[in-house]
Amino acid sequence: MSEEQAAVVGTGPNGLAAAVTLARAGLRVVLYEAAPEIGGGLRGEALFDSAINHDVCSAVHPMAAASPFFREFDLAGRGVELLRPSISYAHPLDGGRAALAHRSLDATCAALGADGPAWRRLFGPLLRHTESLSSLFLSDLRSPPSSPVGAVQFGLRALRGDPFRSEEASALFTGVAGHAVGTVSGLVGNAVALMLGHLAHGTGWPLPRGGSASIAQALADDITAHGGEFRLGHRVTDLGELAGFPLIFFDTSAREFLSVSRRLLPYRYARTLARFRYAPGAAKADFLVSEPIPWANPEVGRAGTVHLGGTRASMIRQEEMASRGTLGDSPFVLVVDPGVVDSSRIVNGKRPVWAYAHVPNGDDTPPVDLVRARIERYASGFSDTIIEARGISAAAYESYNPNYVGGDIGAGAMTLRQIAARPALRWDPYTTPLHGVYLCSASTPPGPGVHGMSGYLAAASALRRHFKLRPPSLSPR
Ligand SMILES: Cc1cc2nc3c(=O)[nH]c(=O)nc-3n(C[C@H](O)[C@H](O)[C@H](O)COP(=O)(O)OP(=O)(O)OC[C@H]3O[C@@H](n4cnc5c(N)ncnc54)[C@H](O)[C@@H]3O)c2cc1C
Repeated sequence: MSEEQAAVVGTGPNGLAAAVTLARAGLRVVLYEAAPEIGGGLRGEALFDSAINHDVCSAVHPMAAASPFFREFDLAGRGVELLRPSISYAHPLDGGRAALAHRSLDATCAALGADGPAWRRLFGPLLRHTESLSSLFLSDLRSPPSSPVGAVQFGLRALRGDPFRSEEASALFTGVAGHAVGTVSGLVGNAVALMLGHLAHGTGWPLPRGGSASIAQALADDITAHGGEFRLGHRVTDLGELAGFPLIFFDTSAREFLSVSRRLLPYRYARTLARFRYAPGAAKADFLVSEPIPWANPEVGRAGTVHLGGTRASMIRQEEMASRGTLGDSPFVLVVDPGVVDSSRIVNGKRPVWAYAHVPNGDDTPPVDLVRARIERYASGFSDTIIEARGISAAAYESYNPNYVGGDIGAGAMTLRQIAARPALRWDPYTTPLHGVYLCSASTPPGPGVHGMSGYLAAASALRRHFKLRPPSLSPR
C-alpha cells in the first residue's frame, strides 16, 4: 500500500478533505494547485494592511460546524476556534427595522412577535433532528435518512415554503434561501433556508478566529504530517500530466474536468458535462474601514452575517433577474464584519468588511460602488468609514479560481435536476467513466459550501473500490 499514489488536483476544502482521508489510509498523496497558495475558497489575504487579513472567498461556516467530516477531523482539537455570534444573521429593512435570527430560538421567536410561534413551529422540530438532517444533506444524497421522521418533517416544510405573515419574518426566512443563489422561492431555496436556518439556532453560524484560511492550514498540516506533498502554482491542463498516478481526484468544476480530460471521455458523458449549468455569479467587495458599520438599527451590528435584500418580493424579483442575465438595481448582498465576534481582526481600530452581491453569471460590472450603495441604504455614513476597497467582478472571479465559472461560487447551479445528477446521473456520483479518476469538488454532491464532504466521500469510495478499505480515523489524537 505504501507504494500506492494518488494525485489530487485542487486544494479547496474538498481537495484537502480527500487528501487527508487518502493520506491517513496510507496512500502517498501529491496535491496540485493552480494558485500560488492552498485553500481555494478558504484563502485569506492581507489586501490593504499587512496586519489585517481579509477572507477572499468564504467567511462564515455553518456547514463546517455541522459536517460529519469536520466533526471527526475535530477543528477545535487542532486549534481552530469557531466563534459563534449571539445573532447568527440579521436582515435590515427600510425605516430602521430589522429582523434578527438569534442563536437562541426563544429570543428569535420573542422578537418576531405575531410570527414567533410560526418560526418556532418551523425550526423547533428540525433542531431535534439536527444531527441526522446534517448527515442527510451533507452526504452523497443517495443514502436513506437515519431519522425518517426528521426527513419527513423537513420535506413537508420545504414543500410549504414561507409560512409567515409579517414582512420581517418573511424577509428573514427568504434571506437564508438566498444562499441557494438564483432560486429563492422554490423547493431548493426552501430546503436551503430550512437547513441553514435551523443551524443558526443550533451549531450556529461560526467564523474561525483569524479567518477561514486557518481551516485550510489545519487540513494541510495533517496532510503533510501523513506524507502528502503540495505542488503550488501548477494548473493541470491535461490528464496525461498525471499518467503515473493510479488514482486521481479532481477538486475542479465539471467544466475544468471536461477541459482537462475531454480527449479521453466517452462522448455522452462529455456532452453531459458540457451541458452542466452554472448559477448567477458573485461580485465580491472587500473594504478596510475605520469603524463598525453604522447600521440604522444597532442590533444588526451584533450579527455575524447580514443579508441585504429588502422584502421577500424584492429578493425574488432581483434573484430572478440575475438568473435571466439582468443586473437589477438592488441585488441581494451578503455582508460580514468579522470584528463583531473576533477582536483579533481589528487592528488600531481598522477592520475588514466582507461582502458580495448576486449578479448575472459572467457580469463584469465593478462591484465596489454597487455593494457600497446597498450597505449605505441600511447604514447611512458607511462610505465615510471606508479607508480602502477592492472589488472582483463575477467575470474576474473565474481567473482567480477556475472553479467559479462566470463567478458561480457553487461550481454549478443548485437546481433539482442538478442536485440529483451532479454533474451527471451516476449511482456513485464521484466516479467518472475513467478508471481510477474521481471528481470531488462542489460540482458533486452535496454541492457548494465548506463541508469537505465531497472530497471525503470521493476518497471513501476510492478506498472501498480499489483497496476494500473503510475510511480511516480522522481524529487528531
Ligand atoms: C465570495 C465567496 C464567498 C463564499 N462564502 C462562503 C461562506 O461564507 N461559507 C461557505 O461555506 N462557503 C462559502 N463560499 C463557497 C465555498 O468557498 C465553496 O463552495 C467551496 O470552497 C468549494 O470547495 P471546493 O473544494 O469544491 O472548491 P474550491 O474551494 O473552489 O477549490 C478548488 C481549487 O482547485 C483549484 N483548481 C481548479 N482547477 C485546477 C486545475 N486545473 N489545476 C490545479 N488546480 C486547480 C483552484 O485554484 C482552487 O484552489 C463562498 C465562495 C465565494 C467565492
